[in-house]
Amino acid sequence: MRLVNSLTTMQRLALRWRRRGLRVGLVPTMGSLHAGHLSLVRQARRRVGPAGRVVVSLYVNPTQFAPHEDFAGYPRELEEDRRRCRAAGVDVLWVPADAEMYPGGPSGGPSTWVSEENLSRRMEGRARPTHFRGVATVVTKLFNVVLPTVAVFGAKDYQQAAVVRRLTRDLNFPIEVVVAPTVREPDGLAMSSRNRYLSPAEREQATVLWQAIEHVQRRVAAARRSLRSSQLAAEVRRLIQARPSVRLDYVEFFAPETLQPAPQVSPGTHMALAVWVGRTRLIDNARLEERR
Ligand code: AMP
Repeated sequence: MRLVNSLTTMQRLALRWRRRGLRVGLVPTMGSLHAGHLSLVRQARRRVGPAGRVVVSLYVNPTQFAPHEDFAGYPRELEEDRRRCRAAGVDVLWVPADAEMYPGGPSGGPSTWVSEENLSRRMEGRARPTHFRGVATVVTKLFNVVLPTVAVFGAKDYQQAAVVRRLTRDLNFPIEVVVAPTVREPDGLAMSSRNRYLSPAEREQATVLWQAIEHVQRRVAAARRSLRSSQLAAEVRRLIQARPSVRLDYVEFFAPETLQPAPQVSPGTHMALAVWVGRTRLIDNARLEERR
C-alpha cells in the first residue's frame, strides 16, 4: 500500500490509472477507521475487481465543521489507520494536507463552493447550516483529484449519501455512487469515530438510538395501516427522556428519495434521529420494514 500526501502526486497517479483504463474505487473518510469504514473498502474492492485500484482518502475536512464543533478534538490516529488500510487491501491511502486542499486557509481560502440546495436543508442541515456545503465541496474536490469510477459512502450518514448522489447527478460526474449498509456494534449502536468520545455510562445510554429505531420498526411492522409520524415521534421522545444523559435533537420520518417529511409512516418510510449524549452528538437512521 502506498501512502500519498501530495495532492499533485495523487492526481498524477489517478491520471495514469485513467490512461491505463483501470477502474478506481474511492472511499472518502475522516479517519479513525472502524469496521464500518472497512466494509466500504470491501465494497469498493468488489466493484473495481482485483485489477482495479482502491483509494481511501483520509481528511478531517475543516469546512464541514462549524466553529463551535469538534474539529480540533476530532480523533486522529494516522498510524493505526495506515495499518488498518494495509490489512484491508487498500492500494493508496491519500492523506492530503490542509495547505493543498484549502490554500489560503479554510475560512479565508475558497471562494468557490459546491452547495446542494434541496436535500441539504432539513435534518442535519437545519442543525448544522454550513455542514453540507463543506461536504459537497470537499467531495467534489476528492472526485476531481482521484477521478474514481465508483465512490462508496455509508448509509449511516443517509442524508450525506443522498446529497452526494444528487451532486454527482447534477454536476454530471461519471461516477457510480454506492451506499453501503450501516455496520453496528453487537448492541445495535452504529459504529462511529465519535463513539470514542463517550464515557462508559454514556456509551451505555447511547444504545437508545437503536432502541428508538427498533421500537418504531416494531410499531410499523405490527400496524395494519399507516401511523401518524407525530405519534411515533412522541413515543421516541418519551423513550429518550427516560435516559438522563441523552437529549433529542430531532427525529424525522421522510420519503427515502426526496427526504420530504412523511406525515404518515408505513413500510418504506425512512426514519432518522440525532441525539446529544452528554457533549457528543450522534445520528442514526433506518428504513422501516414491513416484517422483521
Ligand atoms: P466519516 O469518517 O465518519 O466521515 O465516514 C466516512 C464514511 O464512512 C462515510 O461514507 C460514512 O457514512 C461511512 N460510515 C461511517 N460509519 C459507518 C458505519 N457504522 N457503517 C457504514 N458506514 C459508515
